[in-house]
Amino acid sequence: MASVGTVWHALNLVTEPSGEEAVAYALMEAGAEGTASAELPSKLVRVTGYFREVPNPEHVHTELARALQIYDLPSSIVSEMTFDEVPDKDWLDEWKKSWQPGRVGRFVIAAPWSEVAPAAGQLVIRIEPGMAFGTGTHETTRLCLAAIEQHFQGGSFLDVGTGTGILAIAAAKLFPVARVEACDIDPEAIAIARENARLNEADRIDFQVGSIETVSVSSAECVCANLTADVIARLLPALIGATCGRLILSGILESQTDLILERVKELGVESEAAVTQDGEWIAIVI
Ligand code: SAH
Repeated sequence: MASVGTVWHALNLVTEPSGEEAVAYALMEAGAEGTASAELPSKLVRVTGYFREVPNPEHVHTELARALQIYDLPSSIVSEMTFDEVPDKDWLDEWKKSWQPGRVGRFVIAAPWSEVAPAAGQLVIRIEPGMAFGTGTHETTRLCLAAIEQHFQGGSFLDVGTGTGILAIAAAKLFPVARVEACDIDPEAIAIARENARLNEADRIDFQVGSIETVSVSSAECVCANLTADVIARLLPALIGATCGRLILSGILESQTDLILERVKELGVESEAAVTQDGEWIAIVI
């Protein structure tokens, strides 16, 4: 935490409301310690990222472009970028207070500092917000959590593209004796996922840096991949090969459903696919 008198470098981006989460994600990826959002009278949203050091504009632009691509949003959604310095104040506390626990089925996703009193049968997953993709607020994460609760019956679980580790941790919470493996091509995500696993007393999850094609993972009864449609299409043979039960796919827009289902059929998988939807996002269970 900053000492008294520290000056924070605040980067403000103005976006249409649908871009709020992507912009906050990009700011965190660019090195912000936290973000705050405010609705403007114009109904646009100002997202502020707080940095300890002056952020490198090129880095911010790269992360913003990447985030908008992941969320499938046009770059025109962000209309303004301004910069100022703010004295050390309680923004961090404000931000922390603004994080309310979220619920999906039996799972309660909470920040490490949130007080939660779980009801009987509920499973609390503690995730440090804003560090990597997968804090439980995105539709695709929520679709995957629901699918895991419904389809994972214990045994073994593999999470491809683990981000914060949230899905692997959920699987480990459901079945404390299951073998849980997870991978991500981003070494920073893996470091954060390990930290989150420790926070959840799920240290036994085996996290590896790399993609399903490069890491040595065993096949699993339930494989979950919340990526993007293009990456899923490319990895599908390996994903199917690693599955000896259910395969849960998400990160797919409704408009991309047929593309993935056709690819599944092309690969000779005959079984019925169940599609669930939240907003414009879908998940497929094979
Ligand atoms: N599982 C989390 C995070 C999903 S975000 C959740 O459901 O919320 C997708 C993650 O996949 C990112 O962390 C990204 O680094 C990772 N990723 C992208 N391409 C990948 C690949 N080919 N193999 C493994 N991980 C990949």
